[in-house]
Amino acid sequence: MKIPFLSLKATNQIYEKQISEIVVQTINSGWYILGERLQSFESAFAQYCGVKHCIGVANGLDALVLLLKASDFPANSEVIVPANSFIATILAVSNANLSPILVEPFLDNYLIDYQAIEKAITPKTKAILVTHLYGKCCDMGKINTIVQKYQLKVFEDAAQAHGATYMGMKAGNLSDGAGFSFYPSKNLGAMGDAGAITTNDDALAERIKALRNYGSQQKYVFDYQGFNSRLDDIQAAILSIKLPHLDTENQYRRSIAKRYLSEINNPKITLPPTDSVDEDSWHLFVVRVSERDSFRAFLNEKGIGTDIHYPVPPHQQLAYKEFSHLSLPITEKIHREIVSLPLNTALTDEEVAYIIDSINKY
Ligand SMILES: *Cc1c(COP(=O)(O)O)cnc(C)c1O
Repeated sequence: MKIPFLSLKATNQIYEKQISEIVVQTINSGWYILGERLQSFESAFAQYCGVKHCIGVANGLDALVLLLKASDFPANSEVIVPANSFIATILAVSNANLSPILVEPFLDNYLIDYQAIEKAITPKTKAILVTHLYGKCCDMGKINTIVQKYQLKVFEDAAQAHGATYMGMKAGNLSDGAGFSFYPSKNLGAMGDAGAITTNDDALAERIKALRNYGSQQKYVFDYQGFNSRLDDIQAAILSIKLPHLDTENQYRRSIAKRYLSEINNPKITLPPTDSVDEDSWHLFVVRVSERDSFRAFLNEKGIGTDIHYPVPPHQQLAYKEFSHLSLPITEKIHREIVSLPLNTALTDEEVAYIIDSINKY
């Protein structure tokens, strides 16, 4: 059997006809930027997340940068971020001319350690930007208590958490504002770059709407030094086709995750936490193995593709030389041992069974 880690062609196949039609319709409308297809996706996604505002932007990184820019913190204010995240979370803070403060995760669920957050707070701290990594929401109850105690803002990097919930509330509705990515491989993926911000804050939403469009709210009137970061109507139309199927797709991912959790029984493999299986969006199914290379080679031999999210932590990247002195042992251990198994809507029951059987033979 040959099972790729992810084939976007396979996962998008069922939408091909509808998407082709909507793309042709959009072309024929003659309106491609800030049009009604964008507006209609923004309302649908706001409603889906249970928030007042959704603002489409060019990609997930921009969503986070614009959230921080629109918050207007003094230059070099500190923003607490997870050391264990995709580098975009940290880049967003740097790109907004703020200082990222890296905080260790919990080893058991890979999410930012809220006790460590409190220790990292200084008089310069203005906000916490958490990542719902792999599609599992952070403990926002605990984090919001800290936020209130120290009068901070809190934001979500929800790029992996479309449809994930915490206490019945959707990711994107758990903070002052959230950034989503619709990069093709995400749970809700476009066919190009795309992103969005969700928030219940009217003033913040207004500023972000201006910032994504050169700082302009009214044609040729510029209130801010803005950006060009718009979500185009073709991508928005494609997302509107896929959004109504997001819950069904997440449910399918969940059913595969549940099989992995109950049927993988190899003591060499550490499985992800099971305390919120029905709430997580299961963007990725990440296990830990001490001899990662041999495990991946073994599965590769059996035709099973795997990936690593992510192999080198941000503080050890050349891009962040200023953090190279940091010792973040939990983050480093995670980056050394993790492997992502195939988990997507194109997997068949037989393929899942074969993956489980192969892993149990390792
Ligand atoms: C994908 C991703 C981003 C960035 O999204 P882009 O659309 O690629 O800019 C940010 N944070 C996390 C956690 C992601 O997984």
